[in-house]
Amino acid sequence: MASGTLTIDLDAIAANWRGLDRMSGPGVQTAAVVKADAYGLGVTRVARALAGAGARRFFVALAEEGAAVRQALGPGPQIAVLSGHMAGDTEMIQDLDLTPMLNSLEQITRHLESLPGHPFGVQLDTGMNRLGVEMVEWQAVAPILIEAGPELLMSHLACADEPDHPQNAAQLKVFHDMTDGTGLPRSLAATGGILLGPQYHFDLTRPGIGLYGGLPHGGAIPAVTLSLPVIQTREVARGEAVGYGCTWVAERPSVIATVAGGYADGLLRSLSGKAQLWDGDTPCPLVGRVSMDLITVDITDLPEVPRALDILGPHQGVDALASMAGSIGYEILTALGPRYTRRYQERPA
Ligand SMILES: *Cc1c(COP(=O)(O)O)cnc(C)c1O
Repeated sequence: MASGTLTIDLDAIAANWRGLDRMSGPGVQTAAVVKADAYGLGVTRVARALAGAGARRFFVALAEEGAAVRQALGPGPQIAVLSGHMAGDTEMIQDLDLTPMLNSLEQITRHLESLPGHPFGVQLDTGMNRLGVEMVEWQAVAPILIEAGPELLMSHLACADEPDHPQNAAQLKVFHDMTDGTGLPRSLAATGGILLGPQYHFDLTRPGIGLYGGLPHGGAIPAVTLSLPVIQTREVARGEAVGYGCTWVAERPSVIATVAGGYADGLLRSLSGKAQLWDGDTPCPLVGRVSMDLITVDITDLPEVPRALDILGPHQGVDALASMAGSIGYEILTALGPRYTRRYQERPA
């Protein structure tokens, strides 16, 4: 075995989608956000599992990602592209029946001129100042655009993971101001917005991270384990150092396992000296610096040398690992590198 094994529990992802669908409430459609290769977990298998659970609308960041989802699912499900209709994407949008969420007057013009009659949505900027049509522009184009029949008016919350943040109510109000009376389907909530409550749900919710077991959805079922093989071990005497920079020095005679996996595999360098790896239920400290392809682990207290150690699993999930690295679960997941063997767990249908 050369690389680590990333095990992805597709049943957990499907169960998380069903849970978020129930929380979204009756009469509200629940989409699935599968951008960035389904948050690093592999979009082909993940999108099929979500379609199996009942998802009919999928969101990706880029048209190329939409192509991969169409390939996985075939015709039928709607695939929405959050970056909208970018220059050079027209053919792909048409051929693969993607639905761009138009973000600017430039994109609106490009879309209506190059693909008249092709489905689209509009992303509105309600205060995040990142993507979307702004209030003044919207007031100018809304009358014409509503005529053209957008499939969705959507916006995105900047602070949904902080329920008490005043930005949530402020954006909700702007979204109402921009969309009330249009009679068109609307969407404001990602995972965090679903948790904020029904007034944020509108007609469609768009969870991503909650499907994959991450915060802010505390009730999500963890979906990944990551097991890293031990390549070799060595005994170090008291006073000897381990790894780049000699940042860790043995305080007792120690057994150090060198494990396959490093920052090139998404084990962030800021985890140096902070994370634990697990042999079943026993934690073993990561010692010294994370290097590109390797980490070193103090296994002195284990009765024997394990074949592999887990860095993500029941004792240490993506958010626990993220907080040790000063990051968020989203970054841990999407940083998981291409070198792992991805194993999918799924109950036979
Ligand atoms: C990424 C993203 C989502 C999903 O967000 P989560 O926090 O992962 O649920 C929804 N909508 C937009 C516009 C996004 O960029």
